Amino acid sequence: MSADPVLTLADLANWSRPGTSLAVLGHPIGHSLSPLMHNAALAELARTDAAFEAWRYFRFEIHPDDLTRALTLLHTKNFRGVNLTVPHKIIAFGHVAPIDAAARPAGAVNTLLREEHGWRGFNTDGYGLATAVREAFGRELTGSHVILLGAGGAARGGAAECLQRRCASLNLLNRTRDNLGRLLAALAPIQGGIPVRGLTFSELAAAKATTGADLPAEALIINATSSGLLEADEPPLELAEIPRPAAVFDMIYNPPQTPLLRRAADLGIPGSNGLGMLVHQGAKALEIWSGVPAAQTASTMAAALHAGPGPRGG
Ligand code: NDP
Repeated sequence: MSADPVLTLADLANWSRPGTSLAVLGHPIGHSLSPLMHNAALAELARTDAAFEAWRYFRFEIHPDDLTRALTLLHTKNFRGVNLTVPHKIIAFGHVAPIDAAARPAGAVNTLLREEHGWRGFNTDGYGLATAVREAFGRELTGSHVILLGAGGAARGGAAECLQRRCASLNLLNRTRDNLGRLLAALAPIQGGIPVRGLTFSELAAAKATTGADLPAEALIINATSSGLLEADEPPLELAEIPRPAAVFDMIYNPPQTPLLRRAADLGIPGSNGLGMLVHQGAKALEIWSGVPAAQTASTMAAALHAGPGPRGG
């Protein structure tokens, strides 16, 4: 068996591995760098603690229609923890209980911990974002004016984290109204007096033409859209047409420089891609499964990504 094969539901049904197993489920999953960084961290832990020698992390290609069956099988086969990636984070939210309090407003789970009768759900994306923003720019979500682009699974975790950490204001911009409306409704209970508003990109353009749209200056821009995964994508927001931002964080990490980050660099605005977020959300997930503090494994995970086969996906 190669170090990191793509496994299927059939492999899961026949699973008989005796050691502690962890898994990431996605559709597609071939691009996932999670096995690379988690297995590097587990190998490093095993050097000083034999308890980790039998821990391994596997990736499974699971269609959304098979998610419930896969989660049941993973539990039966004694997997200790699961990561969920596109498109399972929101779907799984309705299938696991209990949900960690911090993950509830996000309406999405990316990390599951085995309990006797089922899975406990967590969302470590927000922690990953906050930690990566601090590392990249030396600034906190707390007290920042945030302009968050997107309203999908990643935006949900990011938006909830911004409010939970008490950002100064949260300005959501999205392509379509439906997802934006759902996200605004989900955030309402945790708004806690923080100014929150949502506009579609076309509403923003119309507002700019009339009132100027009133976006805050010195804001932290966070791209949580999938626009930028392709070289030909236009930046989701024209940075030169809004009050000058303080920094631009793009959750995308492959390609390492998106059109939005290129535009930020042209304008002399500090920018960062999403590799740090990937590392820190992963280190936090491993902390949930193993009890080892995230700060202890993050540098091994980052080194594995930098040395590894090279980023292959988003
Ligand atoms: P979803 O599919 O749930 O959401 C996609 C979002 O992107 C939606 O808001 C969608 O708008 C918007 N969008 C898609 N295409 C365009 C476009 N051409 N122009 C403008 N907006 C567009 O995906 P996720 O939220 O799970 O992931 C979003 C991105 O974040 C991905 O690139 C992913 O790789 C990255 N990510 C990075 C992580 C990290 O650790 N660094 C962790 C998680 C995600 P609409 O609502 O209108 O459809």
